[in-house]
Amino acid sequence: MADTALVQQPISLVMSCPVLSVPDQSTTSDAAALMKQKGVRRLLVTDSAHKAVGIVTQTDLIHQQPLEHYLMLRDISSILVELPLLLQADLTVAQAAILMQQTQRDAAIVKFDQDLLADAEYGIITERDLVHFVATERTLCTLAEVATRPLLTLPLHSSLLQAVRLLRELGFRHLGVTDSYGKPVGLLSHNHILLNMEHLYISELKAALQARDKALRSSESSLRLAYKVIEASHDAVMITDANGIIQSVNPSFCKLTGYSMTEAIGQTPRLLSSGEHDDNFYQLMWQRLQQQGYWQGEIWNKRKNGEIYPEWLSISAVRGENGAINQYAAIFSDITERKKREQKIHELAYFDELTGLANRRLFQDRLEQALANAKRHNHQLAVLFLDLDLFKRINDTLGHQAGDEALRQVARRLQKVSRAGESVARLGGDEFTMLVPECDGLEEVEKLAQRIVAQFDLPFQIQHNELTLTTSVGISIYPQHGNTANELLKCADAAMYQAKESGRNKYSLYTKSVGQRNDQALQLEQALRKALSQQLLEVHYQPKVDLKTGQLHSLEALVRWQDQELGYIAPERFIGMAETLGLIHQLGQHVLRQVCYQLQLWSTLAVPVAVNISAKELADPLFLPQLKQILAETDVDPQLLELEITESCLLPERAAETQQMLQKLRQLGIRLAIDDFGTGYSSLSYLRHLPINSLKIDRSFIKTLPENTSDRQITSAIIAMANALGLDLVAEGVETQAQQEFLLSAGCQFGQGYWFGKAQDPVTTLQLLKNARQSLIQPDKDPITA
Ligand code: C2E
Ligand code: CA
Ligand code: CA
Repeated sequence: MADTALVQQPISLVMSCPVLSVPDQSTTSDAAALMKQKGVRRLLVTDSAHKAVGIVTQTDLIHQQPLEHYLMLRDISSILVELPLLLQADLTVAQAAILMQQTQRDAAIVKFDQDLLADAEYGIITERDLVHFVATERTLCTLAEVATRPLLTLPLHSSLLQAVRLLRELGFRHLGVTDSYGKPVGLLSHNHILLNMEHLYISELKAALQARDKALRSSESSLRLAYKVIEASHDAVMITDANGIIQSVNPSFCKLTGYSMTEAIGQTPRLLSSGEHDDNFYQLMWQRLQQQGYWQGEIWNKRKNGEIYPEWLSISAVRGENGAINQYAAIFSDITERKKREQKIHELAYFDELTGLANRRLFQDRLEQALANAKRHNHQLAVLFLDLDLFKRINDTLGHQAGDEALRQVARRLQKVSRAGESVARLGGDEFTMLVPECDGLEEVEKLAQRIVAQFDLPFQIQHNELTLTTSVGISIYPQHGNTANELLKCADAAMYQAKESGRNKYSLYTKSVGQRNDQALQLEQALRKALSQQLLEVHYQPKVDLKTGQLHSLEALVRWQDQELGYIAPERFIGMAETLGLIHQLGQHVLRQVCYQLQLWSTLAVPVAVNISAKELADPLFLPQLKQILAETDVDPQLLELEITESCLLPERAAETQQMLQKLRQLGIRLAIDDFGTGYSSLSYLRHLPINSLKIDRSFIKTLPENTSDRQITSAIIAMANALGLDLVAEGVETQAQQEFLLSAGCQFGQGYWFGKAQDPVTTLQLLKNARQSLIQPDKDPITA
């Protein structure tokens, strides 16, 4: 104000340039964003011809915002940042101007001396006033003369809304703010309030813009994410346009179909068509897509290399904003593996895993179908039920793997005999069935059964063992034996049992009586199975003596069964049964083991013991290894063991095998005796070739001695020939002294029978052995230690 030269300079030197402008069509928010971006508070507004039509300030923008809301909630103190400039009323205008400029205020409170004017303590002077005073050349007047008063005031904690309303009402631009004592603590201008509001508005705007940016960024990143997911997906993805032209595919598509991206893009999905589906299939697919926008299902497609594979396909139509289909997105995966698994599950459900034959369920299905057919066309059908004889033994002795192998081989042989249409199944365990869906009569089925049985003539090669397996076959026929699948199976099963009971390796047709199996026999069978599994069978020992001296020579082991419910059961009643039920092997093993353990206990007495071996046991290829095993287990001297075998073991048709087998036993040092001699048909000349040590004359010959002449002659002849062959001779069933004397006179050396003693339990036998030993005075003649 002092330097007039400054006031005279042209405004072009002080103006802001260039002028930023906005078109008059812009929105207020665009204008606000531009102001914020460029850091200006005013914009020129231009029309379409770029002619200036107005100016817009930040204040304009703020005014059209609903400000009341901000103003009401805030009070004056919230925007006061500094104390007001207080000027003494005796200062000149020029002095006041300098102070205001120095402190950068656009207004100041003028303080009047209380003495001078009691009623108006404060006044005000503003920048506008100063301009006015310069223009009217009143710069040297005192403030007391020119300042406006009184000062309009509001208390500190009034709301901003109140302040704005007051200023607008009175047309004032400034307002003093007082504390509770009426002392001025601030000077508020309209501009100041608006500026603050601007600040608020700008920060809100900023937040809004930031939010918009964030939303944009996140939608962009979700697009990127979607792209990544598609790229990485294990499922093949293919996008086509509305006409089905392929626009893009993902890497899995290329891997799965064999087509590269460039080969696929521009083609139609017909590229993958396998030719497995007819036009109708695709028509329905498109129809569905048009109507429902979605299709899903299994489809066979073709890879580039020509391979046809199943895929699971989902197609979605992608619609634009106008609702029209723009694109199709197809996602598919190769389900070959899944199909394989399904097939496997199907096989597991209907086929026996071990043999590959039909299982019980499938057999049942087929039987029911065949039955329905037979009923409709009035023909017969047959069910054959097979059970392997003594199969359990293979499992028990060679292990389950061998058992499994045997079952597989049996399955193969059965399949070989079956003709087209006849189906073979394994019901479980060692049970097989065969279905003849159409037959003319029994004769035909019998031939089949014969062929089946004959399949078992050749031995099975299982884990280096040659095993002879046999089977029993039961036959039932529709309509004679039943009307339903279950009835027919039951009858065939019952018939199979009959075949087993009448001796193994046979077939048998169902008869009514088969159905009612002997209750008593069944009870005995169950008791025997239990006795065997619980090892309830005991072994007793009967002495064999020197007929001349009456001294004990050796023992014969005899099995004893005392059942808790059935009482004492003689071996005659259960040995034969054990043989037909296939339990004799288990029984024989049990007895042999018991005897060997006993021999181990009696090792100092070194008494020979004879064990009865049934023909079936001896024919078993496992017999020898098992015997060796027991001997090794118990460390028994094989010389102390004698095996009594009957003539039935010596079937001429198996002569070679028997001979070999006996040879091997002898090589081990085991002694062999022919039991019940005279009841069979073996000639002594045949026996001559066998490596046996002794003969036991059957007790039926001894029984009638010495009265019966012919028995006397036979016995004498046997004794003479046995002596000639150098065989030991034992007479069985000696019950009287007369018998003993006759036998001795006829040249028989040893005897066995009630006359010398019955079979006794091991404890009693031990006592007997000890007594026998003591009664011998001369040790070198001791038959036990000899
Ligand atoms: P076996 O081998 O001829 O046995 C002799 C049988 O004659 C025994 O009958 C015995 O008690 C009986 N016995 C002995 N002395 C006399 C006598 O003076 N008079 C009469 N009447 N009988 C006498 P058990 O114990 O009832 O055995 C019968 C058959 O059972 C045996 O005939 C044998 O073939 C068989 N057996 C017994 N134990 C076993 C065994 O552990 N395994 C096998 N496989 N068979 C056995
Ligand atoms: Ca015997
Ligand atoms: Ca005998």
